[in-house]
Amino acid sequence: MKITGTIINYYFHCKRQCYLFANRVNLEDNSEDVRIGKVLHEIRAHDNKETEIKYENIVLDKVSSKYVEEYKKSDSDTEASRMQLIFYLKQLQDKGIIREGKLIYNEKNKKESKKTEIIKLDDDNINKLNKCIENIEELISQDKVPEVEQNKKCKRCSYYEYCYL
Ligand code: SF4
Repeated sequence: MKITGTIINYYFHCKRQCYLFANRVNLEDNSEDVRIGKVLHEIRAHDNKETEIKYENIVLDKVSSKYVEEYKKSDSDTEASRMQLIFYLKQLQDKGIIREGKLIYNEKNKKESKKTEIIKLDDDNINKLNKCIENIEELISQDKVPEVEQNKKCKRCSYYEYCYL
């Protein structure tokens, strides 16, 4: 299984979710969060005449001459968002495309004030990414599915029914 930005994001969200997704148990279509994400994409496409860019095994929200931009619904999972963007920056760097990352959080009910964070692909972040990928590869190659995490995040997770019903 090729590691993707989504798999990296899920690793930080929930080990079980990461495992299930990487092993092709894909329940994404049932997720309200995924639907909201799609709507955000449509709004941006309409406003900016730009939309997401698919490139090998990655999907980029927007690329400018300086930044790769990732849009998130909230800043509740910042570690996951950061590492996902570092992964994208590294994939591009490996192809000779050097960019910085910009995380843009679309806070609920706050149309005007979008929080942003700039991410650089320095040695420290590359080391963190390599360690993360190593851990993910170990996790998803296990025979046993990780246990349900019993977390409040579960209620909004696309695997909720799979895990609890
Ligand atoms: S429902 Fe909870 S335990 Fe199951 S995959 Fe989602 S976050 Fe993980």
